[in-house]
Amino acid sequence: MDKLIKKAAQDLALAKNVVALTGAGISVESGIPPFRGKGGLWEKIDPMEYAHINSFMKDPVTVWNVLLKDMKEIIDKAVPNKAHKGLARLEELKKLTTIITQNVDGLHQLAGNSDVIEFHGNFVWQRCMKCNSRCKTSEVDLSCIPPKCTCGGIYRPDCVFFGEMIDPDHLVRSRQAASACDIMLVIGTSVIVEPAAYMPVIAKENGAKIIEINPEKTPLTNSISDYIVMGTAGHTLQNIVNQLEILIES
Ligand SMILES: [Zn+2]
Repeated sequence: MDKLIKKAAQDLALAKNVVALTGAGISVESGIPPFRGKGGLWEKIDPMEYAHINSFMKDPVTVWNVLLKDMKEIIDKAVPNKAHKGLARLEELKKLTTIITQNVDGLHQLAGNSDVIEFHGNFVWQRCMKCNSRCKTSEVDLSCIPPKCTCGGIYRPDCVFFGEMIDPDHLVRSRQAASACDIMLVIGTSVIVEPAAYMPVIAKENGAKIIEINPEKTPLTNSISDYIVMGTAGHTLQNIVNQLEILIES
């Protein structure tokens, strides 16, 4: 048994209010490729050309064809992996209170977590740009591109495009959660994108322990993080939660 997995389980056993900050790395094992970094989607297509709100307003057909159609296909069939399930179990065990995520795939809610702050909104819902009514992305009819609401308005995903603001309400709630937790788990993210990058700092300043679960070191490692458990999110989290359950039972 990895010493750090044991240590993380011991720390979680003592914790009362755990907050998780998650990024693309937690959903890779669900078949969702990351946007940033090596092999990421933004290496293949230019986000400023296809994921900017101005591009969508100007030419929704192209943005749907180049980006959104593929995203729908990938996210429609994605299911929670061992890491999402581990976090859901941590909530059942009355440890985890809130998840702050940079992901738009809705997999944390699907796994069973109840308080999920989605910084970038989500791709699970589409919103009509004319009447504002919503429709599940999985139920949107793509036989006509761009897909349209019964009122004739164009559907757009409920997530944040480049050039759009993050919901200020999400920021306020994230800051509150970060400042109130006693452990922050940073999972599958190198946290270089603001405002997510501030959350571990806020947690640390308020006395929380920061535990990273990442396959490799990040800018947080050896600075903000207390320690890093290196590995893939699913395997590592499953081991930590198993170990925690043994500690709780004994
Ligand atoms: Zn409509």
